[in-house]
Amino acid sequence: MDCLFCKIVAGKIPAKLIHDDEHCIAFLDINPQAPTHFLVVPREHVASLARGGSSHTALFGHLLTTASAIARDRGLANGYRVVVNTGPDGGQTVDHLHVHVLGGRHLTWPPG
Ligand code: 5GP
Ligand code: ZN
Repeated sequence: MDCLFCKIVAGKIPAKLIHDDEHCIAFLDINPQAPTHFLVVPREHVASLARGGSSHTALFGHLLTTASAIARDRGLANGYRVVVNTGPDGGQTVDHLHVHVLGGRHLTWPPG
């Protein structure tokens, strides 16, 4: 399968890894939209949040608790934003589920 994030998970494409465990990895976004911008990515290829089912409940929970732990470790005590772009209307450009964490500046709402 020709999936960019599967290749990063497999170590075939380099990334600035900041976390690595049995179920997921996290790495810095190549085009950061905030002073801190990283992605939490499951090792399993799940195309998007819309493709998750009841078998993914624990994994999806793990992605969020991992995002929270990394945000804490990186000093985002003043808050941050977690985003899961989903499908074409959601602005998803890489079809392997990923959780964006953005912080280090004030983020406006609503997003564009
Ligand atoms: P999406 O638009 O699908 O929600 O987010 C994809 C994200 O992946 C974008 O923020 C983009 O900058 C990031 N990205 C795309 N290709 C690469 C890459 O090769 N390496 C890294 N580290 N990030 C990437
Ligand atoms: Zn993949």
